[in-house]
Amino acid sequence: MTRAFNSTLNVGKGFKPRKVGLKRTALKRGTVRLKRSAKKKISKADLWRQYGLERPSKPRYNGLKGIYWRLLSEKRRREDFIKYKGECIDQCGKYARDWQDFDAGHFMAAGPSGFDLLFDPVNVNGQLKGCNNPTFSPNAGHGYARGLDKRYGPGTADALYERYCDSAFRGKTTKEWSQIEYDRNIRALLRELKIINGAEDFANHFERVMKDLS
Ligand SMILES: [Zn+2]
Repeated sequence: MTRAFNSTLNVGKGFKPRKVGLKRTALKRGTVRLKRSAKKKISKADLWRQYGLERPSKPRYNGLKGIYWRLLSEKRRREDFIKYKGECIDQCGKYARDWQDFDAGHFMAAGPSGFDLLFDPVNVNGQLKGCNNPTFSPNAGHGYARGLDKRYGPGTADALYERYCDSAFRGKTTKEWSQIEYDRNIRALLRELKIINGAEDFANHFERVMKDLS
């Protein structure tokens, strides 16, 4: 097959296709045009499945970004539920009964704050769903700032606000991760989540994933 293919081309002895995955698409006056084979398409569900996860019906973001957010959200909610015994970050005085009562609420809003703050764990905290909703709790931000300073030290909320201003008004942008960086950070989060949560259901859920990663 290879010999027959080469013999029709004016490419000299010892010609080898430069890359696996190249295929002949046209033969014209002794030249050959090579085109990269179309990359095998991986379905959206498969993308999640390769990390041992079920794809939610409406992920917040597409692709690996959506997977990273899903894991970070779970990590921050579980962490805060354990560490602060379910206390809502915004000092409303209410408590979550389960980590899933929480949203992973942004202090500086996800959209306009740039990539710098989008996944910063200090900017993302366990907040009750009703509080993380501008319709029901339009003024939760002030209490959120107090909660941040209480947990992480005075000036924390201001510092996050300054970083928001850097992105929104001072032209300091942070480059989003590459696909390779997303993959690396997703795998790191999976490891962290396994450590954070000793609960049986979670251990079972990620057991297979961790086997695959090791
Ligand atoms: Zn609250």
